[in-house]
Amino acid sequence: QLYNQVQDLKGTIRVYCRVKPFLPGQLNKQSVVDYIGESGNIMIVNPLKQGKDTRKVFTFNKVFGTNTTQDQVYEDTRPLVRSILDGYNVCIFAYGQTGSGKTYTMSGPDPTHEEMWGVNYRALNDLFHISRARLDVIKYDIAVQMIEIYNEQVRDLLVSDGSSRRYPLYIRNSHQLNGLNVPDASLVPVTCTQDVLDLMKTGQSNRAVGATALNERSSRSHSVLSVHVQGKELMTGSILRGCLHLVDLAGSERVDKSEAAGERLKEAQHINRSLSALGDVISALAQKSAHIPYRNSKLTQLLQESLGGQAKTLMFVHINPEVDSFSETISTLKFAERAA
Ligand code: ADP
Ligand code: MG
Repeated sequence: QLYNQVQDLKGTIRVYCRVKPFLPGQLNKQSVVDYIGESGNIMIVNPLKQGKDTRKVFTFNKVFGTNTTQDQVYEDTRPLVRSILDGYNVCIFAYGQTGSGKTYTMSGPDPTHEEMWGVNYRALNDLFHISRARLDVIKYDIAVQMIEIYNEQVRDLLVSDGSSRRYPLYIRNSHQLNGLNVPDASLVPVTCTQDVLDLMKTGQSNRAVGATALNERSSRSHSVLSVHVQGKELMTGSILRGCLHLVDLAGSERVDKSEAAGERLKEAQHINRSLSALGDVISALAQKSAHIPYRNSKLTQLLQESLGGQAKTLMFVHINPEVDSFSETISTLKFAERAA
């Protein structure tokens, strides 16, 4: 076991909070973040209230302030990612309202700029790198799936021919398949960065199908990039399997029921239900509860083998420090606090 240092993280849930910086053109804007402490504290101030009770402190495993680079974020994620090569299952989530930086953390703003890469490109690169370094001891095969969950239906994002798309796909929980819970979704072997860049491109373009605008769709569905690793020890012939799920969740903002109707209302209800199902599972795990309610959403069914037990979970919660986002920020931080 190369990565013993993360052994103690198994069965645990870590929560990292990331604060989105103000973008150019938003300078001098007032922030609801009053203070970020060294030990994972963040103090939020209610700008619209005066006097007492205007400040609230939340505590997480780590808080990344607005100056944090993509590289620094990955530094603290790397041990979890690497542990899948020792046969662990890992889930990494990005949670937050639309526009708070989820996709920035998971994918980055632009795949052509390596220094801006998010967790998913860095994770795969890291896995390639280590598997090459261990080649004389163990032979790893790495393959990925990319699916979307929209209105509680699962769709394969890696089909190359749109016309042959099978939809919706079924989730089957299978211990043998070890995390491969959507056996009908394309499983594509990858060996290098270029493979990954090509796949992401396919995934992104399939995601846009049927959506009025890419942004719209991506904020209303969950996307899951699953990395399946199988290692064969050369000396003994023994096999180990690990799986990493990288999940860019649908936007957590609450939709005003008096304003939404039709499709929009249906989407919002599906999102609400699945995010609260995820919250329920995570807080049940955090409390070491005997019953974990996995069955209440497609997302938690899909991830069942990788949430709890020996698996490791990391949740990035994203907040937008703008005053207008104050109430969403508070509900995001409260959601995250249930997990911590
Ligand atoms: P979400 O996926 O939560 O809807 P995005 O990741 O698309 O949000 O972020 C919204 C906008 O803010 C994008 O233009 C993105 O590039 C920018 N952004 C988000 N987080 C950061 C960050 N940490 N640093 C710089 N720009 C960011
Ligand atoms: Mg996004």
